[in-house]
Amino acid sequence: MNTIGQNLEHIKAEIPAAVEIVAVSKTKPIEIVQEAYDAGQRVFGENRVQELIAKHPALPKDIQWHMIGHLQRNKVKYIAPFIHLIQSVDSYRLLETIHQEAVKNNRIINVLLQVHIAEEEHKFGFSQDEITDLIRDGFFDKLTGVKILGLMGMATYTNDELQISKEFKFLARLHHELQEKIDLPVLSMGMSGDYNLAIDAGSNMLRIGTKIFGSR
Ligand SMILES: *Cc1c(COP(=O)(O)O)cnc(C)c1O
Repeated sequence: MNTIGQNLEHIKAEIPAAVEIVAVSKTKPIEIVQEAYDAGQRVFGENRVQELIAKHPALPKDIQWHMIGHLQRNKVKYIAPFIHLIQSVDSYRLLETIHQEAVKNNRIINVLLQVHIAEEEHKFGFSQDEITDLIRDGFFDKLTGVKILGLMGMATYTNDELQISKEFKFLARLHHELQEKIDLPVLSMGMSGDYNLAIDAGSNMLRIGTKIFGSR
């Protein structure tokens, strides 16, 4: 087994089997992504459209590609034909664009709604109130090209584990509340530095780069 395979095994040994690992391959070349594929990994995350459209045709067709970075509306068309899940939906207008491009491609595109849970202002995402309002008012119902699978969040970049846990638990509580109204199976939170805290708070999808591929 290669080093990447060993890293993946190491992470899997620590987490419940039902938790999905998204291997964040941003900045890593195609050969390295292929190594992870050869070790059995099939789900990969990228944060730039440019990299997604370069890697997608060069790698095996059964890879599920996730978009995890801020997405501009004018770039949705480039990934709409193949993207498996867009995790970083942070505005209603973006959701409308994804719906339109999905319809053009005769597809239904899976999405997560990104929620702003960190203290940092520059991070993207809906507020709790925005999401609650959108769901209560049925705004999503007419967007037949998108399937909302759940929520995604990024904690504050800090060593303060209490702070990180607090943010993850906030998102888990919101997820739980919304689930009483609509079916939302996915809760995506946790990266290389904080995935154990995310699991403890109830995450079922981790986005892990450094711990699998080494530093960028
Ligand atoms: C880069 C990135 C990750 C992975 O970060 P690591 O610390 O390398 O595990 C996860 N989520 C998002 C949104 C990212 O941009």
